[in-house]
Amino acid sequence: MKRRNARLTILGAVLGLSLAGQGAFSQTAPPAAAGSNDNAEATAKLQALLRIDTTNPPGNEADAARLIADWLKAEGIGSELYESAPGRLNLVARLKGSGEVQPLLLLNHLDVVMAEPARWRQAPFAGNIVDDTLWGRGTLDMKGLGIMELMAFIALKRQGGPLKRDVIFCAVADEESGGEYGAEWMLKHHPEAVACSEVLNEGGAGMTMANGATVMAIQTAERGNLWVKVTASGKPGHGSQERPDGASRKLIRALAKLETVPRKYELIPQAFSLLKAIATTETGIRQFVLSHLDNPWLLDMMAPTLIKTQPQLAPMLGMTVNTTVLKAGSKVNVIPSEASAEIDIRMLPGYTIEQTLDYLKKTLADPDLTYTILDAKVGGTSPADGELFRTLGEASRAEYPGIVVSEMLTPGGMTDSSFFRARGIRAYGLMPIIASADQLASMHGDNENITLAQLAKGTRVTISAVAAAARKAP
Ligand SMILES: [Zn+2]
Repeated sequence: MKRRNARLTILGAVLGLSLAGQGAFSQTAPPAAAGSNDNAEATAKLQALLRIDTTNPPGNEADAARLIADWLKAEGIGSELYESAPGRLNLVARLKGSGEVQPLLLLNHLDVVMAEPARWRQAPFAGNIVDDTLWGRGTLDMKGLGIMELMAFIALKRQGGPLKRDVIFCAVADEESGGEYGAEWMLKHHPEAVACSEVLNEGGAGMTMANGATVMAIQTAERGNLWVKVTASGKPGHGSQERPDGASRKLIRALAKLETVPRKYELIPQAFSLLKAIATTETGIRQFVLSHLDNPWLLDMMAPTLIKTQPQLAPMLGMTVNTTVLKAGSKVNVIPSEASAEIDIRMLPGYTIEQTLDYLKKTLADPDLTYTILDAKVGGTSPADGELFRTLGEASRAEYPGIVVSEMLTPGGMTDSSFFRARGIRAYGLMPIIASADQLASMHGDNENITLAQLAKGTRVTISAVAAAARKAP
């Protein structure tokens, strides 16, 4: 016991040094890079877009879509606006190519999550610039990347010259509430407008590790989700009675099993890729451990320590299960007839909904419980050998010398990429800036912002990667 603990401590220190500190992503300032640190046009466009409040719900993305349509019109590019619901518009614009290669889709969402102005240093919908930083809800998630994509799209038109494929710019509504009126709606009702072989979307970013190394993590995989309500029923009665089969007791016994079942760790290639990328910036035993976590024995031994020091790694190491809503009874002296729990399960790509539900049923092991699926989507992956993946990596290395390019499995929620991956279309998530830990936390949090230098660099990388993926090799 003691020996095992000692070994864990040593290995924990190994990885702790490697990934801990102030979280996997340190506060170190991004390294300086060549090129202009201001892109006045991108800045002005992003400011204008931030000033349109597209908080979802309700969304109200129409004004934002119309503004982009006006900008495109000024460039001589027509666009189609698709109304999925009152006030909800999706925009599609296309530059024609020769058709040698299937189209490339630049996908972004116009809606944002709510902001609590009292908690912000700058008003979230004012588009204020203070000390070379642009503040606002959506600067990162994801109007900022939307503007980078738009600048890349406009640059193709301004530069002229032949394209080997159509390039489609698509700004959608409703991503933050699941995409029912946005990407999913477009694929269902106007599949021809968004038909493509590759998608550039949100999901990944550049990050600085605690050891100072920078990694450009391109999202190629997302987990699926199974949200399920489990209900126990039983005979109600007075709180003074004995009811071994009361609804609450049944539910508590079942949930206790869920909390004590040993966790199964798994490392899919997309998650391992990021750890290996970090390993290349390390030396000695730290490098060895990180680059050998695909060994199941080492993974089983290291995963608990890794998760303890770095909770944000937990989603990358297998299924996560959280009981999030509990309901039973309304009066202290009455045994309720019903008790329920809502459970949020996130499973790795490759697992089906049936498999996951089956796992839950087997774990709870009570045939009297009933199950209601509230929401379910399978995860998806895209191979890292796609042309866009390659050009994103090349453009990132050119802008940020020494950066390590890697795949990534998103630890958080799903994006619109899931709808495309489910149809066999390759989707890559990347906002090519080096984001600080504070910035990563500000998405869906407070004080979301982007520096003007980040916007300029990210725009440059996007322009370069999109041009390379759209034009013939010289
Ligand atoms: Zn987003």
